[in-house]
Amino acid sequence: MKSRIKRRRLGRTELFVSELSYGAMNLRLLDTIDEAYEILDYVLSQGVNLIDTARAYNGINGHGEFVESEVLVGNAIRRRSDLDEPIVVVTKGHGYTPSQFDEDLSVSLSKLKVEGRGNLTIGKNPIYLVYLYHGLNKERWETIVSSGSLERALEVKAQGIVNFIGFSSHYKNAPEIKDALDTDVFDVVELPYNIFNATLGEDGEINLLKYAYERNVGIINMKAFGGNSMPDMYNVLQEYIDIDYRAMLNFCLSNPYISTVDAGARYVNEFSLDIDTATSPRPPRAELARLKNEASKIADCLQGLCRECLHCIEKFECPEGVDFPAVLSVYSRYLLSVRLGRDTEEFRDKYEKQRENAEKCIGCGKCLSWCEYKLDIPAMLKDARDALR
Ligand code: SF4
Ligand code: SF4
Repeated sequence: MKSRIKRRRLGRTELFVSELSYGAMNLRLLDTIDEAYEILDYVLSQGVNLIDTARAYNGINGHGEFVESEVLVGNAIRRRSDLDEPIVVVTKGHGYTPSQFDEDLSVSLSKLKVEGRGNLTIGKNPIYLVYLYHGLNKERWETIVSSGSLERALEVKAQGIVNFIGFSSHYKNAPEIKDALDTDVFDVVELPYNIFNATLGEDGEINLLKYAYERNVGIINMKAFGGNSMPDMYNVLQEYIDIDYRAMLNFCLSNPYISTVDAGARYVNEFSLDIDTATSPRPPRAELARLKNEASKIADCLQGLCRECLHCIEKFECPEGVDFPAVLSVYSRYLLSVRLGRDTEEFRDKYEKQRENAEKCIGCGKCLSWCEYKLDIPAMLKDARDALR
């Protein structure tokens, strides 16, 4: 039976989307393709009407199978005969010039198996397609503007190849996010925001969530839980703060500017808890303020840590073969334990297993521009070696 997830307006698109949506990034982190369809089927059965994927959400699952999120999302929608409303499919590409934009978009359309113009379908099911520039930053924004890519995106929208356009971005790109919003051409923006980091919201120089909302841009909130590594980090943090997953999700759902919170649950039981939270009453304002205060006690401890989001290896491979996200994950958990005054011995053992690979880094810096959190990857690898060897 479908849950009663509340709908909110997605800005100027005039679509009404479930306030809890599903982020399909983590399908690549599951063991099997069956598990991927299990969560997708569950999401669709629960009345979630927005699924967020990307051309780059690919990877090898636990069974060694190559997984493309767009393919799985398209298949899951196509095989349903019981959907009673169009699904809003959000996908993203790394094409920042007109030709790269066309190339990426055409691959996404074929992977999702989108058909039609204007009135788009996947199989027999009508959909709305929202196409985003993936990971807008300074360099990419300059390329988009100077290459004429924005005009191309508007043409593609006018031709009905996609229904709406937008961009995603991350914490460190506030000036570019504002510049992009100021063009007034984007329908949707996807931004990170959570109880530990509200710098694109109320804790920023400009509250960009409010800024986007006032410009009638629909807002998809990602990273409500702060990244893939948060479950493990949270096991450490919960000894120090009184914040659970419900509280984290409630914090985001309570923000009046956000259209939908993209919860990156991996398993049905996790998403079921998210739905239960979304369909329960919101905590009172005083409780939210107390939770924010709790989070601020350890927010500094989370600075400069790798979140295992894996965005850096979506389009980049270290030429020396260093699996730097894996090393940074161990080092970040070590750093968190140091900051909280906990025992760190287990991290030396973990580093030892990765040492040969980690120490192949020649410090070329080619990975630097790929970290969404702007971590100094080569410096952190060196620090990891000094601290953990
Ligand atoms: S700095 Fe190190 S990890 Fe980064 S690309 Fe160069 S060799 Fe690879
Ligand atoms: S290095 Fe940066 S982009 Fe890569 S997983 Fe860590 S936080 Fe994410």
